[in-house]
Amino acid sequence: MIEKRQFYINGKWVNSVDGSDYKVVNPSTEEPVAVISLGGRSDTEAAVAAAKAAFPSWMATSLEDRLALVEKLTKVYETRMEDLAQAMSLEMGAPIDMARTQQVNAGLGHLKNFIRAAKGLGFVAPLGDHAPNDRIIHEPVGVCALITPWNWPMNQVTLKVGAAAIAGCTMVLKPSEESPLNAIIFAEMIDEAGFPPGVFNLVNGDGVGVGTQLSGHKDIDMVSFTGSTRAGTAISKNAAETLKKVHLELGGKGANIVFADADEKAVKRGVLHCMNNTGQSCNAPTRMLVERSIYDQAVKTAAAAAEVVSIGSASEEGRHIGPVVNEVQFNKIQALIQKGIDEGARVVAGGTGRPNGMERGFYVQPTVFADVGHDMTIAREEIFGPVLSIIPFDTEEEAIAMANDTVYGLTNYVQTQDGEKANRLARALRSGMVEMNGQSRGAGAPFGGMKQSGNGREGGKWGIEDFLEIKSVSGWTS
Ligand code: NAD
Repeated sequence: MIEKRQFYINGKWVNSVDGSDYKVVNPSTEEPVAVISLGGRSDTEAAVAAAKAAFPSWMATSLEDRLALVEKLTKVYETRMEDLAQAMSLEMGAPIDMARTQQVNAGLGHLKNFIRAAKGLGFVAPLGDHAPNDRIIHEPVGVCALITPWNWPMNQVTLKVGAAAIAGCTMVLKPSEESPLNAIIFAEMIDEAGFPPGVFNLVNGDGVGVGTQLSGHKDIDMVSFTGSTRAGTAISKNAAETLKKVHLELGGKGANIVFADADEKAVKRGVLHCMNNTGQSCNAPTRMLVERSIYDQAVKTAAAAAEVVSIGSASEEGRHIGPVVNEVQFNKIQALIQKGIDEGARVVAGGTGRPNGMERGFYVQPTVFADVGHDMTIAREEIFGPVLSIIPFDTEEEAIAMANDTVYGLTNYVQTQDGEKANRLARALRSGMVEMNGQSRGAGAPFGGMKQSGNGREGGKWGIEDFLEIKSVSGWTS
């Protein structure tokens, strides 16, 4: 059993003062593999105090010095990639090859993109020729609480820590209690890179404990949160008392609109995208809206694509999907699949229960529902598992209306070879991101949502700007 009960506070590994033990379970085997400490109030206080004390001097460092440290961090990161991949595979069930290529590389890519983006940012910028003695200063928000989920853990940690550090903020990271091991390795990397004590602090904990203590803390100036819409609401309410900035990256229910003139790989691509990371991505295209003239064929293609998705242990190499993260998620997904059946949708691949021959581990069958009604539960709720809902449509207007008729607004997808139609859809869809014809977003593009998918933007220059306050100064001496 791995024992990792310490926290990283003020540049040192310290024992928890008032924490309690928590077992991290390997979702591939259902066996506990590590024990960590869930911090208590004293641990949170110590971390916040360290971050607060470090803020004035960190804020006063030059951008060049901060970038040099983040560059050093990328070099250290490159030496720990296998450790990170093994940790994520063990604790959240990402198959090891997928962890190595997608999960780990995402983090490194974000850090490098931030370095590139920061070089073009003007931290002191003129207002305009009409006001020669005005300056707009971008300065760090202050002490930040960074609260992250388990599904793309290193992706989320780097998106927040990289941006906050470059902006000049100090921080307390509370990673998900489901996936703390990769974050502990990340703290070791910060230490090795030589960040000054107190700039970055790590306290493990759960939502009701450390999470709530941070969001309500008077000395925390901003909470940057990625996770469920439920927790985002709780954090916003708790943060209201101290009127801190709350940056939210929440859930999604992305529509993938497949027109009759889509390229021939569009349906299969949509299924595989939905199943990637065992369906545990906020931006997964989980509602496939298909133009009626190609609907029957699309259903057949989607079912065939799902049936050949293989499932296996996260420790095995190869291109399979792993288990879902834990028993709670497993049960929630099973209940939603059953609900889809009860409400009259047609199962064309997968269904309830574990895949054949898999008795242990939180494995879910890749499932495709056809004839899904737009008002059914499976078309409205974020399932967070490998479950696709296919819904027919007749007109472009109907497809747009259905895609937008959701509380979420994270990513929508469009498949058509008609460029004008695609661009029209990109404007009409109410989401922070629109990806068309399988083209993924470029490096450093802003990631974030509208409506109940949140209000923040992460990645590239927008990600750094979310950690900056804007100060307007007049009477500046040139
Ligand atoms: P979660 O909300 O249960 O937990 C996320 C984090 O918040 C964890 O660290 C948890 O301990 C903490 N937390 C929970 N309740 C809290 C509270 N009341 N106060 C403070 N902290 C609290 O989410 P999860 O199950 O870890 O992650 C899955 C969710 O994250 C999905 O809804 C997914 O869509 C969303 N997500 C969104 C994005 C995005 O960028 N929009 C990216 C990844 C995941």
